[in-house]
Amino acid sequence: MKSMLKMSKRKLKTADIKSVNTTPSIHDFSEAEKNQFRSLLLKWYDEKKRDLPWRKQALNPDINQRAYAVWVSEVMLQQTQVATVINYYNKWMGKWPKLQDLAKANLEEVNELWSGLGYYSRGRRLHEGTKKVVEELGGEMPKTAEDLQKLLPGVGRYTAGAIASIAYNQVTGLVDGNVIRVLCRMRIMGGDSTGQAVQDKLWSHANSVVDPERPGDFNQGMMELGATICTPKSPSCDSCPVKEICLAYSKVEQEKQKSAMKILTNNNNSITDIECLADTCPLCFQQEDMWEPSNGVENYPRKGKKKAPREERTDVCIVCRRRQESKDEYLIVQRPNKGLLAGMWEFPSLLQVEEAQNPTDIILDKSCGASLQTTGKSQHIGEVVHIFSHIHQTYVIQAITIEEGEVTLNTEQPPSRWVSKEDFLECAVSTGMKKVFKAFESPLSPKSSNTKNKKTANKPDDKQRSISCFFKPKVSS
Ligand code: SF4
Ligand SMILES: [Zn+2]
Repeated sequence: MKSMLKMSKRKLKTADIKSVNTTPSIHDFSEAEKNQFRSLLLKWYDEKKRDLPWRKQALNPDINQRAYAVWVSEVMLQQTQVATVINYYNKWMGKWPKLQDLAKANLEEVNELWSGLGYYSRGRRLHEGTKKVVEELGGEMPKTAEDLQKLLPGVGRYTAGAIASIAYNQVTGLVDGNVIRVLCRMRIMGGDSTGQAVQDKLWSHANSVVDPERPGDFNQGMMELGATICTPKSPSCDSCPVKEICLAYSKVEQEKQKSAMKILTNNNNSITDIECLADTCPLCFQQEDMWEPSNGVENYPRKGKKKAPREERTDVCIVCRRRQESKDEYLIVQRPNKGLLAGMWEFPSLLQVEEAQNPTDIILDKSCGASLQTTGKSQHIGEVVHIFSHIHQTYVIQAITIEEGEVTLNTEQPPSRWVSKEDFLECAVSTGMKKVFKAFESPLSPKSSNTKNKKTANKPDDKQRSISCFFKPKVSS
C-alpha cells in the first residue's frame, strides 16, 4: 500500500512537470491547428499553385535527376524572383539536362549562363557540387537532407530540406524568407527573425507542421503562400487559406472590434487580448512600443539591424580598339577564380585607395599588365553605382579609343581578350559591368542621353543609375 502511494505520487509529480513544460505558448501550434494548417494549405496549393518549369522537372522518374532539377531551381531562386529565374532555369536545363552534363561543363560556360542572375558563387558551387556527385559519389545524389547538407558544397539547411522533401518525399521542413514571414505572422513572433531564438522556433515549427504524407507539396505551399498571398507589403489576408488559424490576422481583427466597441459603448474590456503571457520572451517584440496598429499584420516579422554595406569606388577603363575592316573591340580581363564575381570578365578595373582616382596607365598595368603606346587622352564618362549584398560599389568610368597595335598585353597577367560589343553582352560579365557599358554608350546617343538626363534630374536618389558628368565629358589623364 505504502509503495503504491509512493508510486502514484511519483507519477503525479512526473505528470505535473510534464504539464508545466508543455503549457502551450501562444507561439506554438496545437495538434489540431497543425492538422488544420496542413489540410487548408494543401487544398489551396492544389487549386492555386503556379505552373512553374521546375515543378514538372520534379516529376522525373529518375530520383537523381529529380533531385538535380530541384537543386538547380532552389539555388537559382535564392535571392532572385521567380519571374527572373524561369528563363535562366529553362536555358540551364536545356543546356545541361542531367547532372552529369553540368559536371562536364567548364566554369566559363557556367558563369556565362549565370550572367545577370547575380550572386555568382551560387552557380559555381552548383557546378562543383555536380562534379563531386559524379567524381566522388558515383553519380548518386545524397539521399537525405542531412547528407545533402554535409556532402554538397553550397547546400545549406534550406536547400537540403527543399531537395529532400520535394524530390525524396522526406518529412522535413524548411525555412526561407517566405516561410519566416508566414510563420512569424501566424504565431505573432515579433522578435528579431534573424536571431537564434526565433530561428530555432521557426525550424522547429517547420519540422513539426510539415505534412507527413506530402512534405514537398506542403513546403512548396508555404513558400507559395508567402510569395503570392502573405506578401511583405499589403498581404491579401482576406483571401488567405489559413487566416482562421493566423494570430496576426486575429489580432488585427480584434483591434478593429475593440475600436468599434469603444466607439459604441466606451468600453472594450470584455475582449481578451491576443498576446504572449510570458514575462520575458525572446520570440516577442523586444520593446513594448514596437506594435504599430496602422501596420497591421505587417508588424511581423522583424529583422535586427543589417550591417551597412561598405563603400567602394573602383576606376574602370574601357579601352576601345578601332579596326579598319571590322567592328570596334573592347579589352576585357578575367577576375581571379576566388572571391567576389570569381572568374567573371570585366573592363580593366582598379580599386581606388582613399578615393584617389587612378590614372589610365596604372589601371591598365595593374589590372592586366597592358601598356599603351598611344598619346591619346582618356575621357571621363561618369559614375555608375551597383549594389552588391555587402558592398556599395561606385564605378568611376573612363574610356580611351586606340588604333590597332597601340596597346601591348602582358600574357603573364590575368587572362585578357578583345571582344566585340555583341560578345561582351553574351559573355560572363556581371550586371554591374553591363551598366558600365551602357553608361559608356549613352553619351554617344543624344536621344538616350536626353531621356536619362530627364530621369536622373528628377530622381537624385536613384542609386542604381546615378550617372554623373554625362554631358560635360572631361579629360582625366
Ligand atoms: S492571414 Fe494574412 S498574415 Fe496571416 S498568413 Fe494569411 S496572409 Fe499572412
Ligand atoms: Zn512571446
